[in-house]
Amino acid sequence: MTPKFFKRLTGTALALTLLLTGCAPAPEPVSRDLFAMGTFLSLSAYGGQAQPAVDRAADLVTQLDNQLSVTREGSEIWAVNEAQGAWTQVSQRTFDLIRDALELCRVTDGALDITTYPAVRAWGFTTDEHRVPSPEELAGLAARIDYTAVELDPATHSVRLPEGMMLDLGAVAKGWAGDQLSALMEEDGISSAMLYLGGNIQTVGAKPDGSNWKVGIQDPSGPEGASLAAVEVSDQAVVTSGGYQRFFEQDGQVYWHIMDPDTAAPARSGVLSATIVGGRGLTCDALSTALFVMGADRAARLWRDHPELEFEYVLVLEDGSLQISQGLEQGFKLLSPYQDRKVTVISHDERG
Ligand code: AMP
Ligand code: MG
Repeated sequence: MTPKFFKRLTGTALALTLLLTGCAPAPEPVSRDLFAMGTFLSLSAYGGQAQPAVDRAADLVTQLDNQLSVTREGSEIWAVNEAQGAWTQVSQRTFDLIRDALELCRVTDGALDITTYPAVRAWGFTTDEHRVPSPEELAGLAARIDYTAVELDPATHSVRLPEGMMLDLGAVAKGWAGDQLSALMEEDGISSAMLYLGGNIQTVGAKPDGSNWKVGIQDPSGPEGASLAAVEVSDQAVVTSGGYQRFFEQDGQVYWHIMDPDTAAPARSGVLSATIVGGRGLTCDALSTALFVMGADRAARLWRDHPELEFEYVLVLEDGSLQISQGLEQGFKLLSPYQDRKVTVISHDERG
């Protein structure tokens, strides 16, 4: 990572932290910044046990990265992808994650698909050597994306993929890591912490003064760090997927890293960013990616039809307007200078 890149990321995290902590005098957190899971992370905790808790959390996230990385030779996911159709035993923890992620692929009707990797790679997002595959190549790639072909054996916690297919937990790993880290923090007696994992925020408890954390939602079309709205949360995750997070431009066209599994090409659903708020980081991360792919109508249907997923959402659409699910109405606020943006509240009753 270049110093310039690190500085830019640190700047973003600082802007977020400022929004999170507000103006009231507050005790100083113990913070640790690191690079893992392909992104900048900043772990902050309050209280007497904060330092050892933050250190243990940093160790854990590095370990999870080593297990789950799709590109790191020797990781569990790498081993599954290299197995050429054979069964591969993975740790119980990784097995449980794959099982839960597959359930989220099912519930989103394949908008989330953890076998999208061949497409992500073909577009050059793994190497930054970006290219636009031909229509024939895309058709071939789309045929290789199918989460229903992943086989699991709970008795031996083993996984098997048909040859030519690949697993990638990039859409869910950070959210799931947030769950693991917050559980570890609680085990360590921490009652107030804010974990920044790339586009994901995981909060533990409330702020030290008992008030909610205020988490900014990036303006997808604005400069980095420009928050267009804020949501108030405690003990919850806030996860955003947006085309602005990783993209390239070619011949005047923008291509981003979130793929429509049906076409193996960047998803164009009219959504510029999807933010999910909920108690479980894994669900939030899975759904942020899925809602970006699904677009506004399918997103509303998923939210209405699956209350058991316990999530709320904010979509920023191409025309600049926003949609928020009803449960967020209380804690949601447009920020200056975005107050004139149109916000539609999606209610449980389809007729509004
Ligand atoms: P996120 O930032 O959580 O939305 O995840 C995006 C990452 O997940 C991409 O960088 C890809 O590695 C992978 N990915 C892209 N599209 C999909 C998809 N439709 N389903 C699952 N994973 C995807
Ligand atoms: Mg995601």
